Amino acid sequence: MERRKMKRLTLDDRKFFKSIIKLKPQKKNGYAIFVKDKISYKRSRLLIQLAKRIKLDKNEIVHHKNGDKMDDRLCNLEILTIEEHLSLHRNARKNKEIKG
Ligand SMILES: [Zn+2]
Repeated sequence: MERRKMKRLTLDDRKFFKSIIKLKPQKKNGYAIFVKDKISYKRSRLLIQLAKRIKLDKNEIVHHKNGDKMDDRLCNLEILTIEEHLSLHRNARKNKEIKG
């Protein structure tokens, strides 16, 4: 996924994401999320966009390499397309390895 060109995060997006991650995280479907104005934001998604200064599209998924969806350390996160992510989990299910 790194090879593909990604959109840059705008200054406004950056400011907005930074304000969101100051909120108290909640747990939903195994993920750490923030809720603002009834909209949920996954912590993993916000953190990777801020760190890499990129804007993810809807078809770009943040995968948790070790299967722990609460483990949002950058070293545990990987950006994949929906297709890449699905095939990864399909293969993983066969091998009963990756869950996140
Ligand atoms: Zn995944």
